[in-house]
Amino acid sequence: MQLKLYARNFRRRAKKCIKDGGGCCLRCGVRHRSFAFNAEGEIYILYLHAAHVFKNEKVDPNALLIPLCPRCHYYYDHPRGDTPEGIADWSFIGLVAKMFIEEESRKEEVCRISGMTSLLLPA
Ligand SMILES: [Zn+2]
Repeated sequence: MQLKLYARNFRRRAKKCIKDGGGCCLRCGVRHRSFAFNAEGEIYILYLHAAHVFKNEKVDPNALLIPLCPRCHYYYDHPRGDTPEGIADWSFIGLVAKMFIEEESRKEEVCRISGMTSLLLPA
C-alpha cells in the first residue's frame, strides 16, 4: 500500500500558491527561480516551495499553502526556539495570520452564498 503524503491536487495548488504570492518567498522575499549559491560557492537555481501552514493538513485538498524559499521553509518546519526572533519573524507571522483569516472568510462567504442559493432553488 502506498502512503498518501499529499492531496491529489497539491502540484496544481502549489503552482498557484507561488504565482498568487507574486513569485516571492512570503518571509524573506527571495524570488522564485532566482540564482543562489550553496555553501561550496556553486551557483544553483532556487525554487520556491508551497509550504503547509498546518502540518496536519498535508492530505487536505483545501489546506492553506504559503510560498516559502527552501531556507524559510526549513525554519518554518524546524523553528529555532519557542518565540519569534525579531521583526522579520513577527511580520511573517502577521502575513500568515492575515492569509488564514482571509481564506477562512472566503470559505464562510462561499458557504453563505451557496446557502442562499440553495434557499432560492426549488426543493
Ligand atoms: Zn525565504
